[in-house]
Amino acid sequence: MQGVWFTELQNSGLGISCRTKAVLHQEKTKFQNLLMLDTEVFGRMLVLDGAIQTSIKDEFVYHEMISLVALNTHPDPRRVLVVGGGDGGAIREIVKHPQVERATLVEIDQGVIDTARRYLPEISHALDHPKVEVLVEDGIKHIQERESYYDIILVDSTDPVGPAVGLFAADFYRQIHKALTGEGIFVAQTESPWFNQELIRQVYRSVSDIFPIAKLYLANIPTYPSGLWSFTMGSKQHDPEKVDITRIPETDTRYYTPQLHLAAFNLPKFVKELLQG
Ligand code: SAM
Repeated sequence: MQGVWFTELQNSGLGISCRTKAVLHQEKTKFQNLLMLDTEVFGRMLVLDGAIQTSIKDEFVYHEMISLVALNTHPDPRRVLVVGGGDGGAIREIVKHPQVERATLVEIDQGVIDTARRYLPEISHALDHPKVEVLVEDGIKHIQERESYYDIILVDSTDPVGPAVGLFAADFYRQIHKALTGEGIFVAQTESPWFNQELIRQVYRSVSDIFPIAKLYLANIPTYPSGLWSFTMGSKQHDPEKVDITRIPETDTRYYTPQLHLAAFNLPKFVKELLQG
């Protein structure tokens, strides 16, 4: 398939196309159609049900931003959970944090973990770290069975279709609130402010109803629809914008910086208005 173009139809009127060098792996797992491509511009790329999940070129933005903002807001993050995220990228960032004692990954699809281990070692290598526990089960069930347990919960999910639908529901956020400790923080990837406005509004409203502190922040991720991506945070006590950034430890990041930690919450006017609507 060398030179053949892969197109993700991001919505009914828009797509992103990448010229491929090879199809490295293709599989219908129990939950989704999985494709591992090698592309000219973005390198190796994981695609699930036609939607780009991560690529070697731009993965660092998403994985640093879904993890480090919460980790550097919480004063003592010891137990961290990732729901979804079977590629291992968020886990890689979490285990770098010196206070983390246990990083748990709950991914529903063993096929994603196996394929990431084989074809994306740069992203998945921390899945074998001694602090990491990998569970193959439904994140919704896992959360329901925990109470005051995790310091941080990150929802690193696919788009709200198939097994991920329930990961965007108000009831799930209530269960997350219960599973978090008293200083707990939760972050979910919440899609594009250009193309998923109703979803962002709805998630923000639910999180604001459940958590005393609700915030949206943004990052630039070229392979995701519109390139502008949102994350929604719910926090029981700690405000991510009140963090003393001089105390954030220096780590080997490529996107996240202490200054950007604050800047990411400085929203364009149309996004701010979206949250007020
Ligand atoms: N960075 C990505 C994005 O925004 O495109 C998400 C990457 S990660 C591969 C998403 C993972 O969530 C998938 O591997 C999928 O199997 C997993 N997932 C979906 N629903 C889930 C559920 N209910 N419980 C646990 N994992 C789930």
